[in-house]
Amino acid sequence: MIDAVIFDMDGVIVNSEPIYQKIEKEMFGELDIRVDPGMYRTFVGLKTREMWRILVDEFHLPHHPADLDQEEEKRYHCPECNNPLFRGTKRCNKCGNPVDVD
Ligand SMILES: [Zn+2]
Repeated sequence: MIDAVIFDMDGVIVNSEPIYQKIEKEMFGELDIRVDPGMYRTFVGLKTREMWRILVDEFHLPHHPADLDQEEEKRYHCPECNNPLFRGTKRCNKCGNPVDVD
């Protein structure tokens, strides 16, 4: 119950979006795809794997969405202390910075 409340506030209280954006923009660059801001906005609130599924379709990428999803997750780090973060983390276990990477 408490988890659901926190999840609903994702992006409001902990403002997780910049963590995603930085990593995703980096990956778009490496994949050599151009995701314009209008398209990118349609991904807000989607599961990351769903976003990658759409992008793989749209740009005919030779990747499996699950692999891209996993690659993105591997790149999550705490913006304060650079500690690696796991998806679903609400607070950095090293510095206590509130984060939300899901
Ligand atoms: Zn930290």
